[in-house]
Amino acid sequence: MHTPLITMLVVGLGLAFILGAVANRLNLSPLVGYLVAGIVIGPFTPGYVADQAMARQLAEVGVILLMFGSGLHFSLADLLSVRKIAIPGAVGQMTLVTLIGLGVAYAIGWPIGAGLIFGLALSVSSTVVVLRSLQDRHQLQSEQGRMAVGWLVVQDIAMILALILLPAFSGVLGGDEATADVAAGGALGFFKPDTLMEALGLTLAKLAAFFALMILVGRRVIPWILHYIAHTGSRELFRLAVLAMALGVAFGASELFGISFALGAFFAGMILAESQLSQSAAQETLPLRDAFAVLFFVSVGMLFDPTVAVREPFLVGMTVLLIVAGNAAAVFAIARLFRHSIQNALALGLTLSQIGEFSFILAGIGVELELLPESGRDLILAGAMISILVNPLLFVAAERLLPRWLKTRETGAPGEQAAEAESPELPQTSLTGHAVLVGYGRVGSLVAQTLGEMGQPYLVIEERSAIAEALRAAGTEVIIGNAAQPDMLEAANVAGARFLISAIPNPFESGNLIERARAANTALDIIARAHSDAEVDYLSKLGANKIIMGEREIARGISEHIIARANPAAEGDLGAPVGAELL
Ligand code: AMP
Repeated sequence: MHTPLITMLVVGLGLAFILGAVANRLNLSPLVGYLVAGIVIGPFTPGYVADQAMARQLAEVGVILLMFGSGLHFSLADLLSVRKIAIPGAVGQMTLVTLIGLGVAYAIGWPIGAGLIFGLALSVSSTVVVLRSLQDRHQLQSEQGRMAVGWLVVQDIAMILALILLPAFSGVLGGDEATADVAAGGALGFFKPDTLMEALGLTLAKLAAFFALMILVGRRVIPWILHYIAHTGSRELFRLAVLAMALGVAFGASELFGISFALGAFFAGMILAESQLSQSAAQETLPLRDAFAVLFFVSVGMLFDPTVAVREPFLVGMTVLLIVAGNAAAVFAIARLFRHSIQNALALGLTLSQIGEFSFILAGIGVELELLPESGRDLILAGAMISILVNPLLFVAAERLLPRWLKTRETGAPGEQAAEAESPELPQTSLTGHAVLVGYGRVGSLVAQTLGEMGQPYLVIEERSAIAEALRAAGTEVIIGNAAQPDMLEAANVAGARFLISAIPNPFESGNLIERARAANTALDIIARAHSDAEVDYLSKLGANKIIMGEREIARGISEHIIARANPAAEGDLGAPVGAELL
């Protein structure tokens, strides 16, 4: 292949798209499709084999952008607010799972070093999977989302320490000391530590130096550069600045301070989150981030050798059980200890019950230091792949089973617990004859005002959780999520509604919504927003009764104003100052 990068991008993204769409069609998470796409183009299946090293690097870019994006949703205060559970929680959970892994490895007859790496690899969740799963469930900014991200950060720091200490410990653990020295020298750059304490001290000092640099300097310089670039008015430059900043900080953190790309990018995002530009910065990285995150899953699929499951079915089963049940149970127990509700504890446990990128790195180093047998790495890879595959299914299962389970526990008392048991995203409305308002942005919020003044009952479907939470706090009924997703319209009881107002800008999403709403309710009055004549045609064909084209209304408003100004005698309302007539 003469152009391995282009081929990888085309085949990887293309196949991921096709199989992702198939998975979606089968009501599975598209992640399943991406992973299978990776298996198909991986070295263990016949046919085209993509360049694995390249896939891994592309995946790394995905990790950086994802962590940067989630950093943007976080402030230092958010992170500190969850430290009380995240630090003891993550440390406790990692210790527990590592010990169990060590026990299992001992039973198989592996030496202690192998067991330690095996256990540790099974105890660190995949950042990418956690963030994707929180994003999909719109819970990144919820308390549970904050706890999960705090937990990830602690795991991440623990992992950095482990990666640096392992080579130093390798001799003691029965690994290859000569390799250990080389690896330790490599990991720590120019400095080759003589003693373990020196290595540990140096690592901690580098971590502290990085945090201090980011908080003291990065916090001022990064927003300043972005403000400056924003003033040039060039969107292209702004996008470039955001991207360069995210990648640059991640790279610098790893090269200069020995910190993972992921943690470096997370901090870069968090520093930006303090400035007002963070929202637009986040938007700028979205499309790139999503594309590269897909490549992450493809690259994981490529590592997977399906024959392992046939060769070692029992061990693979044990590994998966340890990852899924072990982590979920440990997190659940710790969260319950900290007095979180059953539902929150379970959701947090499930969120963290898979492994990924760090485990691969750890397994790789373990094999390199001759601490972990090759079969250990295969087990870790197989376990990671399967745990990522089953993770979304576990959520579906929990959402189906948990409400029932909680109800049987609380028989006869449909109090707080029962209300809590219902999925927070999809409470079924009890309204009838109501208006369903989709989108609460510049348009929807003004329409809501009118509905409120008229006394027309309504509910809102909105995907930005910050807006939705604020509305809910103000007493408005809200369904959080993308209205184009299945079940949304049923939850909003469109079949029994009087109006559907589609106040969202994307014509395809709006069209999809209108088509399904019309199918569910032929008498529904559907009012939609459009931005071009083509959109007006499209939406009316799908069943909208009234379509308001934004630009036409703006032009009408401007024209009316000019006419009124030109003929003061003809208009009575000239007293109003310009700009006061918003509606
Ligand atoms: P604006 O363009 O300012 O009126 O904002 C549109 C609003 O609609 C934003 O708050 C979006 O978050 C929201 N929105 C856009 N698409 C969807 C969708 N498919 N489902 C729910 N809310 C949406």
